[in-house]
Amino acid sequence: MNVSSKLPEVGTTIFSIMSSLAQDHKAINLSQGFPNFDCPEELKERLSFYMNKGYNQYAPMGGLPQLTQGIAKKTANIYGMSLQYDKEITITVGATQAIFTAIMAFIKPDDEVVIIEPAFDCYRPTIQLAGGFVKAYELEAPHYKIDWERFAKLLSPKTKMVIINTPNNPTGTIWSEDDIKTLEKLTDGTNIIVLSDEVYEHLVYDQQVHQSVLKYPNLQKRSIVTNSFGKTYHCTGWRAGYCIAPEMLMKEFRKVHQYNTFSVFTPLQYALADFIQKKSFYLDLPDFYQKKRDYFLTILAQTRFKALPCQGTYFQLVDYSAISDLPDTEYVKKLVVENGIAAIPVSGFYKNKNDYKVIRFCFAKTKETLDKAAFLLKKI
Ligand code: GLN
Repeated sequence: MNVSSKLPEVGTTIFSIMSSLAQDHKAINLSQGFPNFDCPEELKERLSFYMNKGYNQYAPMGGLPQLTQGIAKKTANIYGMSLQYDKEITITVGATQAIFTAIMAFIKPDDEVVIIEPAFDCYRPTIQLAGGFVKAYELEAPHYKIDWERFAKLLSPKTKMVIINTPNNPTGTIWSEDDIKTLEKLTDGTNIIVLSDEVYEHLVYDQQVHQSVLKYPNLQKRSIVTNSFGKTYHCTGWRAGYCIAPEMLMKEFRKVHQYNTFSVFTPLQYALADFIQKKSFYLDLPDFYQKKRDYFLTILAQTRFKALPCQGTYFQLVDYSAISDLPDTEYVKKLVVENGIAAIPVSGFYKNKNDYKVIRFCFAKTKETLDKAAFLLKKI
């Protein structure tokens, strides 16, 4: 049989490859981004409570009202944006499904979508599946800052969507108020939809603030925000996320969502509806993760790796050019096999495989794991 691939250039994601390589070599896995500590006991207790109580049939297509109400309340408190809980929020199977659904709902053949590279791996193939045309703005190491004049040149009357991601995976950088206001100005008066991937909204350090599009009404009215419970509540394997968009956009989003997954695991939504009330959990997260980042930075300072500036996410980029001349894709293999540490090569987030000799470590790990990593990293 001849299979004609819709995505001939796509292989298995680098996250799966590195995680399985880490397992094969019994390496410390600082590659794929996930915490190696458990989610809160109370959240697990709530999940089994609702499952055992028999809340096991379909949830409403858009999401459980108790949960979307909880999200609306949180969004009003944090960003000052009031939302119609039943019309402007949809619960999804992780942010990845929200991103997939949003792109499928709006991108038609030959529409242009601007992405900013290094970009999270699902954006480009999803745009291609929808028949869209990707225009990539390439950021450069070590600062990964946008030159907005250069960016503006990528916009055209064919631009249907711009995808942004702050705090950014993989760079760990965050947008300033100037950045977001510039985007607001550039898209004002156009039909451009902004898809804002904000899964690391609470992971922002050094007294900086997260620049959510939800704080800017002029931008929010053209934006789809995707978010993740997995990142906030340490449960990436639960595949729970949500999407926020103005009613007009959400109507279209749900036309696809209803055939894409229809609805999301019911007991989980009840459990999250209870747990989202606990403000202290997410308000304490920046401090919780900043301590880990700072600890990891003190470890790196005793190695030959050079830490790049990182003010958000649970990723830390490092420059290894003082250690090796190998391309980053080769260097990460050597690092697993010879040194017992798994990382992600940043070139994998660029279509053109731009290699700045920079790799990504995930520091969402227990102190014990970070100490083991420290022992190995210091020997290199
Ligand atoms: N977001 C995670 C990361 O960047 C991985 C997601 C995935 O494996 N698809 O490492």
